[in-house]
Amino acid sequence: MKNDCVFCAIAAGEIPSFKIYEDDSVLAFLDINPFSEGHTLVIPKEHYKNLLEVPPAVLAVLLERVQKVASHIAAALPCEGFNILQNNGAVAGQTVNHIHFHIVPRSEGSGLTFESGKGDMEKLGALASRLRLES
Ligand code: 5GP
Ligand code: ZN
Repeated sequence: MKNDCVFCAIAAGEIPSFKIYEDDSVLAFLDINPFSEGHTLVIPKEHYKNLLEVPPAVLAVLLERVQKVASHIAAALPCEGFNILQNNGAVAGQTVNHIHFHIVPRSEGSGLTFESGKGDMEKLGALASRLRLES
């Protein structure tokens, strides 16, 4: 665990999050500033900065979970597709230096432009309960 890392703190339960999925090594939770309804982040519980630092074996498990959670969200929400985003480095838009994959549900005519709005805590909480997937 890295002391100044917000996602390590979330993984440790020190900062609250709206969890969608959790197992021994991976956690998925709703993004606090969502691009769309159901925008979810999938992280390894162990701290690795980015795609280049994460060991391939950890990445393989992480990606399998991204697929599992994305499949669940796509079935549970009214959406026709989704984007997977993964930013590396500040210049690429990485603001949290703990590797994470974004799952961004997409709907026809949503007008999504990838400008996030402020998350409504009540709505996020209700959505997390609705989407919760047992490991
Ligand atoms: P990045 O830009 O690094 O790829 O994505 C970081 C994401 O983490 C952003 O979409 C941001 O909204 C989200 N985020 C930052 N801090 C928190 C937090 O404390 N809780 C949650 N749930 N999401 C966060
Ligand atoms: Zn971390």
